[in-house]
Amino acid sequence: SAEHVLMDETAIRRALTRIAHEILEKNKGFENCMLIGIRTRGIYLAKRVADRIREIEGIPAPIGEVDVTKYRDDRSGLLEATVSGAREDAPGSEQANDRLEVHNKKLILFDDVLFTGRTVRAAMDALMDLGRPQMIQLAVLVDRGHRELPIRPDFVGKNIPTSRLESIEVQVNEVDGVDQVVITGQ
Ligand code: 5GP
Ligand code: MG
Repeated sequence: SAEHVLMDETAIRRALTRIAHEILEKNKGFENCMLIGIRTRGIYLAKRVADRIREIEGIPAPIGEVDVTKYRDDRSGLLEATVSGAREDAPGSEQANDRLEVHNKKLILFDDVLFTGRTVRAAMDALMDLGRPQMIQLAVLVDRGHRELPIRPDFVGKNIPTSRLESIEVQVNEVDGVDQVVITGQ
C-alpha cells in the first residue's frame, strides 16, 4: 500500500499559525474564549495554537481537555466523552483544575482529524453537560470528509478528500517524535 506525506513540519506549523490568526479574527481577540483539545493529538495541537495566540496577543490562552472513547462492552459504536484537565495556559499556573468552567465561554474544540463527526458530537454533549457555553467552534488539522452528522469545522488546516479505505496518520512531535501528516491505504 502506498504512503504519501501530505503535510510536513513546515506545512503543519504554517497551518496552525494561520488558524491562530483566524481564531483571533473571528472572535475579535480571545476574550472569554477557551481552547478544548480532544484526547491525545488534539490536545497538543490546541497547546501549540494557544502558544501562538499568546505570542500574537500577549495574553494567556486557557486550555481544557476532553477525552472521547468508545463505550466498553458496546458494539453499537456509542461514544463516551469525559472532560478533564482544565488549565490556564499561563506561566506559573500549571496545575489542573478539577472542573472546566464553560458557562458563557466561547469554546473552540480542536481535533487532529474530522471524519464522521461523531467524536465532536460526543465532545459537545459532554461540554454542554457542564453548563451553557456561549458558543462552540471547531478547529481541525485535517478534514477528511465522510460526515454522518450536520457538523462542519470553522477552522481547517487542510482539506484532504479520502476514500473510506484510506487512513490519515497525524504524527505530532510530542507523541511521535515527528510532525507530519501521512495518508496510507488503498
Ligand atoms: P469521527 O468521530 O469524526 O468519525 O472521527 C474523528 C476522530 O477519530 C478523531 O478524534 C480522530 O483522531 C479519529 N480519526 C478518524 N479518522 C481518522 C483518520 O483517518 N486518521 C486519524 N489519525 N484519526 C482519525
Ligand atoms: Mg482522535
